[in-house]
Amino acid sequence: MKRLFASLLSLSLILVSCNFPAPKPDSPTSTPEPDPMTVPWDDRSLFQDGLVASAQSVLNELRGASVYHIEFTLAGSLDQITGTEAVRYTNTEAIPLEEIHFRLFPNILGGEMTVSNLRVDGRVASPRYELANSLMIVPLSAPLEVGQSVVVRMDFAVNVPQTVNLNYGVLAYNDDVLALAHAYPVICVFNDEGWNAELPPPDGDISFADAAFYLVRIRAPKGLMVIASGREIRRVEEDQTQVLTVANGPARDFYLAASPHYEEISQTFGEVTIRSYAPKEMRDGAQLALEVASRAIEVFSRRYAPYPYTEFDIVSTPTLALGIEYPGITAIASRIYGVGGEYRGAPASQYMESTVAHEVGHQWFYHLVGNDQLDDPWLDESLTQFVTLQYYADVNGSDGEDGFRSWLESRWESVNKAEIPIGMPVADYQGGEYGAIVYGRGALFFDALRGEMGTVTFDAFMRKYTETFSWQIAMPETMQSLAEQTCACDLDALFAGWVYP
Ligand SMILES: [Zn+2]
Repeated sequence: MKRLFASLLSLSLILVSCNFPAPKPDSPTSTPEPDPMTVPWDDRSLFQDGLVASAQSVLNELRGASVYHIEFTLAGSLDQITGTEAVRYTNTEAIPLEEIHFRLFPNILGGEMTVSNLRVDGRVASPRYELANSLMIVPLSAPLEVGQSVVVRMDFAVNVPQTVNLNYGVLAYNDDVLALAHAYPVICVFNDEGWNAELPPPDGDISFADAAFYLVRIRAPKGLMVIASGREIRRVEEDQTQVLTVANGPARDFYLAASPHYEEISQTFGEVTIRSYAPKEMRDGAQLALEVASRAIEVFSRRYAPYPYTEFDIVSTPTLALGIEYPGITAIASRIYGVGGEYRGAPASQYMESTVAHEVGHQWFYHLVGNDQLDDPWLDESLTQFVTLQYYADVNGSDGEDGFRSWLESRWESVNKAEIPIGMPVADYQGGEYGAIVYGRGALFFDALRGEMGTVTFDAFMRKYTETFSWQIAMPETMQSLAEQTCACDLDALFAGWVYP
């Protein structure tokens, strides 16, 4: 495993290039291009170049997906953000809707978000707030009929916490890094439970969202490296300010990280460019992260479906998690970038490899195939742990696979291999059970499912699962029935023994 790893490393080092994007000043002689933020709601042409050729057909689908136009202004201090949001929401449900529910996540992430000047189709609206002000309920003056759309506009302000104490520090300005997660009013998913919103437990993911389209403009001080979900479509510099516009979609969220200390290394593999950002002294870690991501994207693209975007970004942040997934971008904890040394008694490079492979796996399971991350965390976390096992098998052979499997076993052993169901909501696990069961036993369930179905049938099922639920939301029952259809077998006993409470 070590020898193979070393040879891959040296090969990649030869291919890698260092690339600092140069700002493109507006030429006074050129005809001014139309402002991308003013394109019609249904115009998806700006998203095309951000998708690989085989994924572009999705632009003709998802007709009712929400379209967000967001503007963020980052002040010099970086912990005060102001913004505007205009979002076109379409009722794709089976019944008329009398309200639209938005999450204001900063209010439960140690910061604060306020909304003002709220309007629905130009009319002033008075929202009500629940869940510690993290849920904003916008009443509609008349029920929104099936297939009809409204445009909701608002101004917002975010006070970003300067510590990483809550929910792993996903939203924080700390150690000269701004990590801006879920920092705009986010429309909730409406499904058979109605509008989905709850106070998330502190140890799981917090968001659950439909695929949407985002045009985002960011005004930030010059000299700050701003990395965002999506593809940059315009960059203008004015006095002390840079103004970036990005197109991101389809996507389940928008994420941004910024630091004056980031350096970029990048490399292109076929249609996909991977960019890795960290301060100069963490360059070896940023390089290893890029290499692992390239191998993981190759493995998962071959096994499940092509990675949909033309870019993948990796940013180092002070997060307390080892890594956190976002659409087209992942945050990796700065503390594992010292890849020549140790972290928690093991080579930090091992932490970097397993973390980046896992977070890249989420681009397929959480992002391309969505699920309720609070109610069914096994559909994203357990499955992503299992695909990380496949990464080790494909890249590092049976030694790598066995090593990662023992690590999964040891996580489950931390609760003495208690047969606690893997299919419970995050909130129903006690103490260390969530990590042990969802990240340990849950991955071993997929190993057992593969054993029961046979590898060829299981691989076909996983491809079909990815294709069927791309940009949609999968449910436990739909996963089981698709597996049973594929194997023409009854999996009730297996699912009952592992999954369902
Ligand atoms: Zn994960």
